[in-house]
Amino acid sequence: MSAELLSGTAMRREILAELAAEVQSLQEQHGVRPGLVTILVGKNPASVSYVSLKVKTALELGFHEVQESLPETISEADLLAAIEAWNRDPSIHGILVQLPLPPHIDEKKVINAIDPDKDVDGFHPVNLGRMVLGGEEARFLPCTPAGIREMLVRSGTPLAGAEVVVVGRSNIVGKPIALMLAQKGPGGDATVTCVHTHTRDLAGHCKRADILIVAAGKPGLIKPEWIKPGATVIDVGVNRIGESASGKALLAGDVDFAGAREIAGKITPVPGGVGPMTIAMLMKNTVRSAWLHCGEKR
Ligand code: NAD
Repeated sequence: MSAELLSGTAMRREILAELAAEVQSLQEQHGVRPGLVTILVGKNPASVSYVSLKVKTALELGFHEVQESLPETISEADLLAAIEAWNRDPSIHGILVQLPLPPHIDEKKVINAIDPDKDVDGFHPVNLGRMVLGGEEARFLPCTPAGIREMLVRSGTPLAGAEVVVVGRSNIVGKPIALMLAQKGPGGDATVTCVHTHTRDLAGHCKRADILIVAAGKPGLIKPEWIKPGATVIDVGVNRIGESASGKALLAGDVDFAGAREIAGKITPVPGGVGPMTIAMLMKNTVRSAWLHCGEKR
């Protein structure tokens, strides 16, 4: 039987509707509009397209949205000074610097320069530390892992006691989602294994996963026969595998989708799965930041 498709596009719609109501409450109760600045350095086509989608969504939600497009040649010092200015601007609640940055700029320094209270991407070490502590301590969760957890929760996938296998251990996806699902309490309580390039028996681990989360960046890495019948499969991978006749990028995930779909219970498509959730979580973090700046914890 074919697996249920977990549509990130449909869930994003639901989340944005909830956020629109919050934006209205913020306006009514505090006269505040969530403020987001999106900083793009250079003209990398993938980054341009990610930023324009974020800007479009922020505008649709009625945010105060500022787009700062900086030249590829900007010095690290000038970029840090621009961030410092946004840190001080009270109309801005979220600062997003689109990654990757040109090689002459140290990404770590840039992330560390963002005020942790405006770090809506959740990459600042202070926010990652808060995420590790969990519960009340957590503030801005990194957007892609937060989106994955939201998908699991909204689709009613049982987490408590579930065997979760995460393929990949990057700081932006693998490591944080493994930590988040292992946390005590709702949206956590899973038994998590994180596998990577040094893991001895990748197939063996995948085969016992009730929930398999794959963020490796390797098209077709996960074979259908590695999937436990009825498992939930979250494919985070976004791989460009060619171009359509009209020049549009053709994308594939890390899972052999056609085969896996016949065995899994639920599965995310690529595109249209985790990707749309990432943007929804960025908007959620920005709205949360606006509430926090008004002295309210939501
Ligand atoms: P990364 O390259 O930083 O990390 C990949 C991880 O996968 C590494 O930890 C590595 O050990 C592991 N890995 C790679 N090959 C493996 C193999 N053969 N066996 C076992 N482990 C293996 O990548 P990332 O930034 O975490 O991104 C992963 C994928 O997710 C990419 O395709 C990226 O484009 C995609 N991504 C999607 C979103 C989204 O919003 N949908 C967001 C971030 C990343």
